[in-house]
Amino acid sequence: MSLNTKIFIAAMIGIAYGLLLRFYPDTAFFNGSLYVLGIVSGIFIGFLKMLLVPLVFSSIVIGVASLESGHQLGRVWKITLLCSLTTMSLSLFLGLLGAHLFEVGKGLNVALFQTAMQQHPPTAQNLDASSFLVNFVQNTLINPFKAFSDGNVLSVVIFSMLIGLALVYGGERFTGIRRLSQEFFELVMMLVGWLMKLAPIGILALLAKLIAKEDLSVLSRLAEFAAVVTGTTLFHGIVVLPLLLWIFGKMSPWTFFKGTRLALLTAFATSSSSATMPLSMKCAQENLGVRPQIAGFVIPLGSHLNMDGTALYEAAAALFVANLIGLDLHLGQQIIVCLTAMIASLGAPGIPSAGMVTMIMVLQSVGLPAEAIAILLPIDRILDTVRTVVNVQGDMMVSVVVDRYTRIPQDPS
Ligand code: ASP
Repeated sequence: MSLNTKIFIAAMIGIAYGLLLRFYPDTAFFNGSLYVLGIVSGIFIGFLKMLLVPLVFSSIVIGVASLESGHQLGRVWKITLLCSLTTMSLSLFLGLLGAHLFEVGKGLNVALFQTAMQQHPPTAQNLDASSFLVNFVQNTLINPFKAFSDGNVLSVVIFSMLIGLALVYGGERFTGIRRLSQEFFELVMMLVGWLMKLAPIGILALLAKLIAKEDLSVLSRLAEFAAVVTGTTLFHGIVVLPLLLWIFGKMSPWTFFKGTRLALLTAFATSSSSATMPLSMKCAQENLGVRPQIAGFVIPLGSHLNMDGTALYEAAAALFVANLIGLDLHLGQQIIVCLTAMIASLGAPGIPSAGMVTMIMVLQSVGLPAEAIAILLPIDRILDTVRTVVNVQGDMMVSVVVDRYTRIPQDPS
């Protein structure tokens, strides 16, 4: 049985169990069940938090270190960065816009998360954009070991990028460390694989607890949220990215979709940019005419770092959770959510549900409780299919634009 099927069945059992518990409030069965469900879900969330820092660290070191020779650090690197940041910013904007327009999760006050919220410092109330910048400098450029032990992900991201860059510039001298980093990354991925095996039980426990204790309209809100995220992600993939490709890559959407459909379908089926990477490279080179050295640079890097779909999802989800709790995030906090969602998507490796692990840092950036991912877990695997397609599409699109602008350096228009 595939993991998806197991998760689906577990979600159904969780819902049924939660509904059953609602018929026996304040009985020993209810209290005993909630106690056990609390422990099981706590173990699952605990493991997620445990893997967050090692995952982000190793994924970014490997992603940045995959840049190779000198020329890639010049023009190609700059254009890739510019394109990725532009498309990710647009996707974040769309995510927030969709969440605002459709007021996802508004009007409910989910008590479960409010309790979790009280156990966290109330940073969501205090942070604004200017104090964020001060905080950023003071709390980010710190001793990396402190950052690791405190789970300061932003600081870990910066440190990992620096290590990755040093590995690139150091070249041959650091072959050993480079290999070690690659192996460490694979090791962490193995742990993530094990965690995914626990996911059905974790999801069952989280859902049962939620249904037993909360207002059931939370489920219809969740369906609404899923529809809004899917709609905005598709809009990004069908309208925004093709438009940019047409303007900057001078390629028609038809040519692009026809040439990349194999990779896009594989992304949908595997929910993994990394697993799809060989096909994305093949499609970009053979069907879109991207030079091998450009595809070989942009696509592996993008499969680690350029994730429009994930960024959009994480920003919209943070707003959804804030709304569920009844918390209005002001503009400064929304900017923080966007910046963190961008960083979180950089830190998410291209594997199924990686966005779910890094989602924790987006929630925590504005003081929302990590426990709130409970509500997102049941729909994560379904949403992952569409966001992975857009992640992969973004990588191939960037490779076309980079290829075009580096082909004729004298006349970039
Ligand atoms: N599954 C996504 C990818 O591979 C990452 C994510 O979970 O958002 O691109």
